[in-house]
Amino acid sequence: MNRRTFNELVGLGIMAGAGRRHELNAGQSPAAETPARLPKWPDQTYRRLLIDTHVPDWDPALLAKFDPVDYVNTIARAGFQSFMQYANSHVGLSLWRTQLGHMHANMHGRDYFGEVMQECKRHGLHALAYYSLVYDNWAFEHHPDWRILPDEGSTTFLGGRYGVVCPNSPYRDHSLACLRELVGNYDFEGIFLDMVFWPNVCYCAHCTARFRREEGADPPRIVDWDDPTWRKFQAARQRWMLEFVQAVTRTIKQTRPITVCHQYATAYLNWVLGAPLELRDAMDFVGGDFYGGPAQHSLVCKTYYGLTRHRPFEFMTSRTRNLHDHVTIKPFEELRTESFVAPLHSAAFLMIDAINVDGTLNHGVYDFMGKVNAQRAPYEPFYGGDLQADVAIYYDKESFYNPDEQKMRFGQLRAIDKCPHRDAVVGLARILREAHIPFGVVTNANLDQLTNYRAVLLPTVFEMTADQAAQFRRFVEAGGALYSSGPSSLDRFDKAGPRFMLEDVFGVRFAGRVGTVWTYLSPQDDAVQKLLWPQDALSFGGPMIKAEALPGAKLLATVTLPFVAPELGNAIGSRFGAIHSNPPALTPGTDPGIVLNNFGKGRAVWVAAPIEIGTEEVNARLVAALLRRVLPGPYQFEVDAHPSVEMTLFHQPAKRRWLTGLLTMQQQYPAIAVPATVRVLVPADRKVTAVVHLPERKSLAFKTEGPYVRFDLEPFDSLSMALVEYS
Ligand SMILES: [Zn+2]
Repeated sequence: MNRRTFNELVGLGIMAGAGRRHELNAGQSPAAETPARLPKWPDQTYRRLLIDTHVPDWDPALLAKFDPVDYVNTIARAGFQSFMQYANSHVGLSLWRTQLGHMHANMHGRDYFGEVMQECKRHGLHALAYYSLVYDNWAFEHHPDWRILPDEGSTTFLGGRYGVVCPNSPYRDHSLACLRELVGNYDFEGIFLDMVFWPNVCYCAHCTARFRREEGADPPRIVDWDDPTWRKFQAARQRWMLEFVQAVTRTIKQTRPITVCHQYATAYLNWVLGAPLELRDAMDFVGGDFYGGPAQHSLVCKTYYGLTRHRPFEFMTSRTRNLHDHVTIKPFEELRTESFVAPLHSAAFLMIDAINVDGTLNHGVYDFMGKVNAQRAPYEPFYGGDLQADVAIYYDKESFYNPDEQKMRFGQLRAIDKCPHRDAVVGLARILREAHIPFGVVTNANLDQLTNYRAVLLPTVFEMTADQAAQFRRFVEAGGALYSSGPSSLDRFDKAGPRFMLEDVFGVRFAGRVGTVWTYLSPQDDAVQKLLWPQDALSFGGPMIKAEALPGAKLLATVTLPFVAPELGNAIGSRFGAIHSNPPALTPGTDPGIVLNNFGKGRAVWVAAPIEIGTEEVNARLVAALLRRVLPGPYQFEVDAHPSVEMTLFHQPAKRRWLTGLLTMQQQYPAIAVPATVRVLVPADRKVTAVVHLPERKSLAFKTEGPYVRFDLEPFDSLSMALVEYS
């Protein structure tokens, strides 16, 4: 899957300096303490493993040395609690004994899948199955009629090695029959279905006929988010994928009641994949693989936390640098930090390795991963609870497209993966994390959770519905705080012309767009001026929303254009302000740029552009200050620590305690140990009885400070967790 753009965005500056291998501590191998009692699947199973086995059979050496006894023994000794064995792979060959599929030739009558299941049982490992849907080279090669047929000129997501088949074709019945056979004939506890998305926009005969039948039109070839037929087509693609995934889950559950999880990394991927967030309804828990480093994994975990039907949810990453590098292993400290994002969110962590082409494993790698497991395992008994946060980032999966590139054929798009809304979500997460403001994520699929928070951020949301706008309005009316940037809540289909559905909440009325490739915000407020100092304006690399302030709204900044419109600059006559840059006009503009508004019992701040995108410190400082201005304290927690440190807080009411987790995500290893002072909000009816550092349960000194309990943490170079116990 092409996740590079998102990975680069989120990983920016975080992973860039990674590279020095740290001396391994002679950590205790968790295998030595493998409990006789099996942890429950999936509730107590936190150390999970998958070994990529996308290996064909054209050469007799391929997978020929596969030895399930050594294989599973190696996995179990490394302290894993579950193992997910490939039933098939993207190659499309079955590793189980099948009447329906095509078996891997080099098994020579053996049953690799079944043998692994047996060995897992012997070692007390929960056995799970991996199954690749849609990506199936065998089906692609032998059933040309099943192939996904992209628009002319389109190569998106299609590489020469990957054959993809359409779930609207007879492939659908074939895959369901194979799954029925697999699940019915073997004893395993759960299954993961990979690749449940559209790798491309499909125009095959099956899709075309289905769209004609359901919508009475040919599938449109022009990508146009303002065209009703295109919008219907995109809705159909999402509906078809959801229906396929639901059919898969139903087929499996009817055969045997095991856990079902579908690939959900698509939650952060763009519109092309046609994978709506509602896919979660067909899963027992959500899980997906990500490769952008700890900051990305942390944002994904917060998103998954709110979307999963059961906890723990699962996040996956590879022990190698990425899936394209079979050899290079992440340095120990880096892998440890990535895996420590799991205890920070009480999540299950699934490590991804890849099998050697002859079917063997690198045993050294398992000694290495065993040490990572051993560092994480002692925290597991303390997992669980409810995330405590004041601020929700609103993330709208329907807005994952690039409005700057449309009204053209799909094959002509060159920047499909540029999604300003997603960039803004990522930017806000970074700002909140580094400012230590307690936050979570709500989405268009779980907006009912908004009431768990005191503030909501609407970062350049393109596709807000009237219902959603009504929920946000009620939220502010009842006392909530709201931050909005760019075109959020714009209804561009309103009969009277485009308008903000939340104009009464924002205190501004939509009036179009202003500026082109470079614009500025000029402060009209002392506090904003001081925040920007020594700058006298804030740069933004794009146009802004033009608006009129409504009566009662307070103007904090205005939009200022460059001295000369940037596109007019030319060598002939030198008509520009300065040759390299586009300095602001000498007099600040008058259009509202930042507006503060009281609405009901709450407050809103509106910004004319998504200034949260990017990594500039001054932007982060401004956004955090605007948020604090509309959201008074106390917050769920406060922490004095280096910005690389992220803190999370979980409440475990049944155990009468809070779980605090702090992780430093420094970009260079070995990390420098950093201290922290933590303040956790204690409601008036509770009294803190102890603060203990984990996992060794060492008592920490604590004291009351205003509404908080305060304690200091010794300098730490990765994870520092503690329990705050109360009566
Ligand atoms: Zn199709």
